[in-house]
Amino acid sequence: MLRERLYLFDTTLRDGAQTNGVDFTLHDKLAVAALLDDLGVDYVEGGYPGANPTDTELFAKDRGLRATFTAFGMTRRPGRSAANDPGLVALLDAHADAICYVAKTWDYHVRVALETTLEDNLASIRDSVRAAKAKGREVLLDCEHFFDGYKANPDYALACAKAAHQEGARWVVLCDTNGGTLPHEVEAIVKAVTTVVPGDHVGIHAHNDTEQAVANSLAAVRAGARHVQGTLNGLGERCGNANLISLIGNLKLKPEYSERFEIGVTDDKLAHLTRVSRSLDEILNRASNRHAPYVGDSAFATKAGIHASAIVKDPATYEHVRPEAVGNRRKLLVSDQAGRSNVLAELERVGIAIERDDPRVAHLLDTVKEREAVGYAYEAADASFELLARRMLGKVPQYFDVTRFDVNVEQRINAVGERVTVSMAVVKVTVGDDKLISAAEGNGPVNALDLALRKDLGKYQTYIKGLNLTDYRVRILNAGTEAVTRVLIESEDENGERWTTIGVSPNIIDASFQALMDSIVYKLVKSGAPA
Ligand SMILES: [Zn+2]
Repeated sequence: MLRERLYLFDTTLRDGAQTNGVDFTLHDKLAVAALLDDLGVDYVEGGYPGANPTDTELFAKDRGLRATFTAFGMTRRPGRSAANDPGLVALLDAHADAICYVAKTWDYHVRVALETTLEDNLASIRDSVRAAKAKGREVLLDCEHFFDGYKANPDYALACAKAAHQEGARWVVLCDTNGGTLPHEVEAIVKAVTTVVPGDHVGIHAHNDTEQAVANSLAAVRAGARHVQGTLNGLGERCGNANLISLIGNLKLKPEYSERFEIGVTDDKLAHLTRVSRSLDEILNRASNRHAPYVGDSAFATKAGIHASAIVKDPATYEHVRPEAVGNRRKLLVSDQAGRSNVLAELERVGIAIERDDPRVAHLLDTVKEREAVGYAYEAADASFELLARRMLGKVPQYFDVTRFDVNVEQRINAVGERVTVSMAVVKVTVGDDKLISAAEGNGPVNALDLALRKDLGKYQTYIKGLNLTDYRVRILNAGTEAVTRVLIESEDENGERWTTIGVSPNIIDASFQALMDSIVYKLVKSGAPA
C-alpha cells in the first residue's frame, strides 16, 4: 500500500530556545542543525534573523543543509507596506529556503495586542505570504493561538488560514500556543480546518501544558494534518513543545501510523534516535531524562524479579517495542528486589559467562542486597555492579593502589580583595614499582581529587585520557546523625560510551573517591589494559 508522506518540522533552535536556562551559541545551533539533518527531519527552523546577533549570523550565509532551512519572523506590521517594514525586509533577505511567519488568528489578540482591525490583519497575512513567494521562498504560516481563536470566533480563525493558503503558503500551521487544548478538541478543530484548507497543507504545533502535546499532534494527523512541528526532547518554554523524539518513535513503530504514513527518518536513522536525544543534552550540558519514552536510560529497564524472568524468556512480554529499534538497550536492574534472572541477564550482557546454578550467583545476589541495605543502589550504577561481579568472580586486576590522599579547602581573600574558596588535592599512587605523586587544584574538593587522581597513572595514563565526568549527583540518606552520603558519578569516554559508578560513606569525599576509583578501574577493564 502506498503510504502518505508526513513532514516533520523541528523548532528546537527557535521555540526550543525559549526554554528557561537554554542559550544556544552559533556553534551549538550548527551542531543541532547537523544532528537533525542527518536524522532525516524535513524542516529545520534555525531562528529569528534580525531579532538577535546569533540568529542574524546563522542566516548570513547558506548552511548547506539537506533539510529545508527555515527562518522565522512576524508578518508585516499593521499600517505598513511589506517593503516598509524593516523586520520583514531582514527576514526576506535571510539565507533560508523557507520562511515561517507567525500571525495572529484570534480576533481578541488582533484587537488587543496588535491594536488593528480584523481586515488589516488578514491583509497583513496576504501581503507577507505574497512578499516571501515573490522572493522564491517556501512559505509557512504559524497561526498563533489558533485553537483558542477558533473557539472564540471560528469564522475569523478559518479566514486567516484560508487567506494564507490562497496566497500560496505551503503549510498553514495550527498552533496550540497556550498548550491547553485537549486531543479530542484538536481532532475536531483540525477536521473543520481541512474543509477550507486541504490536509496536505495543514500543520500542527502543539505545546505540552497538559502533558498531551504528542497526543495532540497525533490527533491532528488523524484528522488530516500532514505536517508536525516539535522539538528535540520536548524543549520549549513552560512545559515544552511536542517532543519530536517521542513523535518519531510513535510514527515509525506504531502500525496505525507506520502503515499509513512515511516520514523522512529511515529505519537505519531511527536506530540513532537515542544518540540524537542524548547529544542534545550534551550540547546543553544537561543530564538526560532517564524516564524519557523510547530513549531514556530507564525506558526499557525492568526491576522486579518476576518481570525479569519473563523478559529473559521473551522480551515482548514487558516491552512495547524493541529497544534496539531506537538505539536504546534493555536493562534488567540489579537491586534488592532482583531475582537470579536479573543478575544472570546482566552478567550475560556484560559478557561474564557463568552457569545458572553456580553458587557464586547466589553469593553475588546476597552481596548486592547487603550493600543496598547500607545505601548502595546498583540499579543506577551499572559499571559499579559489573566491577563488583567481576571482583567476586576474581577477574579484576589490581592496576594501581592509592596509598594516600589529602584534600583541603581554603577560604581566603585574594589579591583583588574578593573572598574565594579553593581546593587542592594531593594523591600518592603506586603503579607497579613506580610511586607517583600528583597534586591539583579544583573548584571544589571532589573536582580537585578527580584531577589529581587522573593526572598521572603512569603506564595507564593513555587508557584514561579520553575519560570525562559528565554528571555528579549527591544524595544524603537516612537524615539525622546516622546520615550517609551516596554519590553517583556518570562518566563518558572518547567513543561516547557512558557508565555510572557509585560510592557510599558517611563522608562525602570518601563516597566520591569510591565512585571515582570505580570509574577509572571500569575504564581500564573495558579498554583491556594489561594488569
Ligand atoms: Zn510555540
